[in-house]
Amino acid sequence: MATCGEWNLLRTLGSGAYSEVKLARNKTSGDLCALKIMKKDMGYDGGMDDIVKNEVEIMKNLSHPNIINLIDFSDTEQYKQANGASEDVFYLALELANGGELFDFIAQTGKFSEEVARFYFHQLCDAFEYLHGNGISHRDMKPENIMLDNEFNLKLADFGFSSNQAKNESRKGTDNYMAPEIHLGQKYSGQCVDLFAAGIILFIMVAQHPPFNKASPKDPHYKTISANRPDLFWKLHSRNKPGGLEFFSPEFRELISSMLSFDPVHRPSLAEVRSSAWYTATVPSYDEVKEEFNQRKAALDESSAQEDQPFPTEEVDPSVFTRRTVHRGVGGELEDATKLPSLERNCVEYVPEFKRYTQFFSKSDLESLFNTLALFADKVTTEFEFSPEEYSSTLNILQEEKMVSMTVNILDAGDDTYCVEAVKNNGDRFVFNDVYNKMKQFFGGHANASEPASE
Ligand code: ADP
Repeated sequence: MATCGEWNLLRTLGSGAYSEVKLARNKTSGDLCALKIMKKDMGYDGGMDDIVKNEVEIMKNLSHPNIINLIDFSDTEQYKQANGASEDVFYLALELANGGELFDFIAQTGKFSEEVARFYFHQLCDAFEYLHGNGISHRDMKPENIMLDNEFNLKLADFGFSSNQAKNESRKGTDNYMAPEIHLGQKYSGQCVDLFAAGIILFIMVAQHPPFNKASPKDPHYKTISANRPDLFWKLHSRNKPGGLEFFSPEFRELISSMLSFDPVHRPSLAEVRSSAWYTATVPSYDEVKEEFNQRKAALDESSAQEDQPFPTEEVDPSVFTRRTVHRGVGGELEDATKLPSLERNCVEYVPEFKRYTQFFSKSDLESLFNTLALFADKVTTEFEFSPEEYSSTLNILQEEKMVSMTVNILDAGDDTYCVEAVKNNGDRFVFNDVYNKMKQFFGGHANASEPASE
C-alpha cells in the first residue's frame, strides 16, 4: 500500500492544479483524512513552495465549524508508492469532508428550495464573517470548494489562493466565478470578490445552473446586469421555469441582482447581505434539513438501481486494457496493442466512511463492469486512458465546447458488490454531472445494487 509519513493512502479523492488529494488513514489512530500531496520537483522555480506555505500559513490559524480544518502539515516526508518508487513531497492533512461536494448533491438530487438554500447560505456567510473578520479572503470560491461533512454541514475548502491582503492584483480564481473587476485587470478587494462568487453560488443552489458564463459585458446573460437591467436578467432566467418569474421570490431577485452588480461599489457588504429581507426570512431547522437530505439520498439510491435495463454486451478491443496508452474515443482508432499481455490489476477497497453522490453499486462481476467502462469510454469520450494498476480510467470529454476530465474507479465494496464512482479532475462541473448521469444510464442493469450494510 502507498504511504506518506504517518498515513496509509487508501485511494485518490481528487486532483487539483497542483496537487493530488488522497483518502488516507492514520497508521496509529486509524483516523481518516484527506491528504493533499504536492510533489516538490514540479518545476515551479520555488513558486510551488510559496503556494503551499501560503495555504499552510493561512489554514493553521483558522478554526471554524464551516471551514475545513488543517490537521497536520509536513515538508519533509516521502510519498512511497505501492510499487516501491518514492519522491519528496509536501503534504497537508485536512479534515475529511466525507459527505462529498454540495453541488454533486444538488446535481444528483435536484435544486434547493429557497429555504434550504438560505440554510446553507447562512453557513457560508458564517464562514466568510470569520475569514474576512480575520483579514483573509478565499479568492477561489466555486462549487467544487463547498463540501459537506457526513452530518450535511457545509465545509469551505481549498485555501491555495487565499490572501491576507486588503487589496489584490493577481488574477486568481476560476474564470466563471470571477468578479468583473478581476477580468478587467483592476486592483480588487478579495472580500468583495468572495461575495460576488457567493452570489453566483447562491443562484446555482436555487436554479441548478449558473447565472452566466462569465461576468463580462459581452456575456449574453451578464450584459443585462452590467447595463443595469436586472429586470431583463430575471426575464431571461425565468423563461423555462415553472411559475415563470414567480419561480424566484422578489427578495431573492433583489439580493442576487445587487450581489452581482458590475460596479463593486454597488454591491452590498457582508453585513448588508446579512440584514437583507431574503437573508433574514425563515430558515429550516438543522433537523428539517437533515430529514430532507436523507430522503433525497434514499430516493437517489433507489433510482440508481436499474434492474430492468439491458446490459451493454459488446466486446471491447483488448488493447484498451493492456498498458498505459491514451486512446481516442468516439470513432477514433484504438492503438494495436493486442499482443501485449493483460495486466494484473488491484481492485481498490471502498471505504464506507467516505461517500460521494456520483457513485452507484453493482452485483455484476468485476470484468463485466470494467468491460462496460471501456465501452462507455470508447463511445463517449474524446480520449481516455486506463490505469495499468487499478480498475480505473481517466476520461476526457468535450461536450457543448466544454472539456471535462474525470476519473472513474471501480471499488470493491465487499459482499460481492462493487462501487462505480466518478471523480471530477477538472473542467466544467455541469458537464461532469451530465456525463456521470449518462454513464450510470449506460451501465444499465449493471447498476443493480445498493450499498452493502457496513458492520
Ligand atoms: P487544488 O488546490 O490543487 O485545486 P483541491 O484542494 O481543490 O486541490 O482538491 C482537489 C479535489 O480533492 C477536490 O475537488 C475534492 O474533490 C478533493 N478534496 C479536497 N479537499 C478535500 C477534503 N478535505 N475532503 C474530501 N475531499 C477533498
